[in-house]
Order: sequence, then structure tokens, then C-alpha cells
Amino acid sequence: MITVTDLTKVYRQGRREVRALDGVTLTVPAGSIHGIIGHSGAGKSTLVRCLTLLDHPTSGKVEINGVDLTAARADALRTARRRIGLVFQQANLFDSRTIADNVGYPLELIGMKKAERDAKVAELLRVVGLPDSGPAYPAQLSGGMRQRVGIARALATEPDVLLFDEPTSALDPKTTDEILDLILSLKGRDGLAVLVITHEMHVVKKICDSVSLLDGGRIVESGPLVEVVNSL
Ligand code: ADP
Ligand code: ADP
Repeated sequence: MITVTDLTKVYRQGRREVRALDGVTLTVPAGSIHGIIGHSGAGKSTLVRCLTLLDHPTSGKVEINGVDLTAARADALRTARRRIGLVFQQANLFDSRTIADNVGYPLELIGMKKAERDAKVAELLRVVGLPDSGPAYPAQLSGGMRQRVGIARALATEPDVLLFDEPTSALDPKTTDEILDLILSLKGRDGLAVLVITHEMHVVKKICDSVSLLDGGRIVESGPLVEVVNSL
């Protein structure tokens, strides 16, 4: 489960202040999919960066299963970060590595032995529906398949939270549907909490249990999918 409390990010540009996030509070319990929807400039990218501690929030807390990431020191932060799997708009794979080596990369970083890693990678590729793609290179795969590889890689360290940043914005409608079905199939996997940040309402409608509407850095509406969608 991920809990965000009063998260605020202020950028300073000379004398001007931009409150990119202004008191964002939300909870995503294990086993559920929460969507954050907002127009361009709403604060989505800033939220992704602050949740993953790529950028340090000005104030507020990000807790994963009760552990406060914003208070963690360098080595504890590295460990805590592995609790969040991040999937980008485009999979950002290493072109010179095979699919198997891309998926296994986070496991290499934590020093997992090759035999164990190979078994884990094979399992992950089955989960995302690419059981035979291990030896291939990213350039040989379609955009949708590369996105599946990105999801497998994000799942490698068995995170508690999977954070999707505009996961289907670069995909055609049919591929989008397939990826959304895959995200849905991950629901409930080992108590995973899923957070999907998007500007696309159809994405939220198809897969989310609950939704927050982000506008001007604030959550202006939040609740079960039907309630929020009906209020728009
Ligand atoms: P979104 O991803 O929803 O389009 P952003 O998080 O990129 O929104 O931006 C939210 C607001 O914060 C915008 O007004 C943007 O211009 C501003 N902002 C984002 N990053 C910075 C930055 N590094 N410095 C100054 N302002 C920023
Ligand atoms: P996205 O398309 O992901 O929302 P943006 O275009 O909002 O991305 O921002 C791209 C990058 O530029 C981000 O790293 C963001 O922090 C930075 N940025 C956005 N707005 C500003 C701004 N007003 N001043 C400085 N940097 C900004």
C-alpha cells in the first residue's frame, strides 16, 4: 500500500514560485488500481518524480507499507525505492541488451545469481505474455511488446507499488486495450498496489477502482470510479 500525505512541491524561478503540487493526499491499498487524471500542467510529472524521490518534495510524506521514503537516508532510500516499480510512457529499454537482460537488469543490480535470475526472468516474461522473447533485442519488438517488457522489468524486484506514468499514450487503440488488460491481470498479484497517472479518461474508466482528479497541483475530486466520472 502507498500513502501520500500533504505532498507539496514548490519550484522557484527567480522571485516567482510555482506550486506544482499543493497538499496532495491519497492512499492506494494493496490489490487496487487507483488512477490520477489531469490535464497538461496539472502536476502529473512532478507527482511521478516526487513519488519515486527522483525529485525531493518541498514537504509532505510518501509511505510504502508504512515506511516513509522522504525521511529515508541514502542507502535506505535505495532499498525503499525498489518497493516502487516504475513503468514509463515508453519502455526506455537498453537497445544493446536482449529482452531477458533488460528484464533481469534490476536483479543484476541487487546481485542476484545468474541461475536464479534466469528463472525469475522466464517467469516474468510468461506473466506479461512474452514467453519466447527473451533472446530477442528491443528493436525486433513492437511498441506494445516493448511496453510489456517494461512492465516485466518493473515487476522484477517484486515491488509493493507499481507506478504507471502515461503507460499507453504512445500506443494505438488496440495495443492500448491489450496493455490495459495486462495491467488489470496484475491486480491482486502479491498484494500489489497500482497507481496509474494519465491524461486519458478511457484508461481510467477501463481499469481503475478509484480516481483522483489533479488540477493546478491539487486533488480536486477523489473517490470510487463511478462517483468521480459522474461528477465530471
Ligand atoms: P503535467 O505533468 O501534469 O503536465 P508538470 O508536473 O510537468 O505537469 O507541471 C506542473 C507545473 O509545475 C507546471 O506549471 C510546470 O510548468 C511547473 N513545473 C514543472 N517542473 C518545473 C520545474 N522544474 N521548474 C519550474 N516549474 C516547473
Ligand atoms: P510532461 O510532458 O512529462 O508533462 P513537461 O513538458 O511538463 O513534461 O516537463 C518536461 C521537463 O521540463 C520536466 O523535467 C519538468 O520538470 C521541466 N519543466 C516543466 N515546466 C517547467 C518550467 N516552467 N520551468 C522549468 N522546467 C520545467
